Amino acid sequence: MNKITPQPGIMDIALYQGGQSHVEGVENVIKLSSNENPFGPSPKAIEAVRDSATLLHRYPVTDHYNLRAAIGERHGLDPDRIICGVGSDEVLQFVAQAYAGPGDEVIHTEHGFSMYPIIARMAGATPVEVPERDRKVDVDAILAAVTDRTRIVFVTNPGNPTSTMISDAELTRLAEGLPQTCLMVLDGAYAEFVPGFDGGAGLVDRFDNVIMTRTFSKIYGLGGMRVGWGYAHREIIDVLNRVRQPFNLSLTAIAAAEAAVADVEYVEFCRAENARLREWLSAELAKIGVPSDPSCTNFILARFADQAEAEACDAYLQSKGLIVRRVAGYKLPNALRITVGDEKACSRVVAAITAFKGGAA
Ligand code: PMP
Repeated sequence: MNKITPQPGIMDIALYQGGQSHVEGVENVIKLSSNENPFGPSPKAIEAVRDSATLLHRYPVTDHYNLRAAIGERHGLDPDRIICGVGSDEVLQFVAQAYAGPGDEVIHTEHGFSMYPIIARMAGATPVEVPERDRKVDVDAILAAVTDRTRIVFVTNPGNPTSTMISDAELTRLAEGLPQTCLMVLDGAYAEFVPGFDGGAGLVDRFDNVIMTRTFSKIYGLGGMRVGWGYAHREIIDVLNRVRQPFNLSLTAIAAAEAAVADVEYVEFCRAENARLREWLSAELAKIGVPSDPSCTNFILARFADQAEAEACDAYLQSKGLIVRRVAGYKLPNALRITVGDEKACSRVVAAITAFKGGAA
């Protein structure tokens, strides 16, 4: 008997491998695998969520007017050039859906975010992976890979899991080298952790074909709410809005994000605490023979002798209720990506890795 089959290409889409959240048989785990904010969201966001409960019978606004205004005010950007999505994942998906299709190519880099090839395939396009150099985006390699079928180039800045920054000069060189028929997407999911960094907004203003994406899931501690946004030229925003569901963000999510973006002091607190604990964590691990690459984000990439040691350490940490991220899938098999947790979480990681390495814990 004939049975229904999915559309061509659907089964080529890889299932997203998210950060693990539990370990069989281990209680009270600390999750350090998804780069979440250990301090949670601003208390003002929590209050706004509670207040929004009285309006749950209402549809949310469709144009996110107040949220876009709040984001615009915080970052000095024109709210009419902002679009909001269900996480930045959705904004990235809008870009692929609207600008790439069967026969088109979408470039992502070796250590780029794993959703890029997934959303390229969701749009029916072909993802093209370009190698990095020393765990940094290689502009020349990207430009060499561009063909007349390339529609989008995705770049994460700062990188995940590498935490490396691409300079404005390099990004300018990339934007200048790309044909006007190709978009450059600057994914600034971790931009807020870098003091003074605009996430690429300046480049968007200088080049018609550049888009910046941002998220409330990282420094704002609202991963569970699913809110992200994009900033681009009006014409691009107009296009992206045509593939956006009218009520994509829930009323609660909008309320939370609006309150969170206005709480500048809380973001400052999270940035400072993250930087302090990150430096402490990497210094303590270095002392016991586990170096990590310099990081400007809320995670570190801890390096082990080889893949076997990284895997053994991962298993040991799990047995102690500490869930970190193996980055073998990101082609960094001898490393573990560890989200910077709060004081207790960082101390537990150091104690556990010390014990793993054979020292006293
Ligand atoms: N970009 C990068 C580089 C990320 O690491 C993530 C989340 N892990 C995202 C985008 C998507 O985040 P969200 O959909 O939660 O905004």
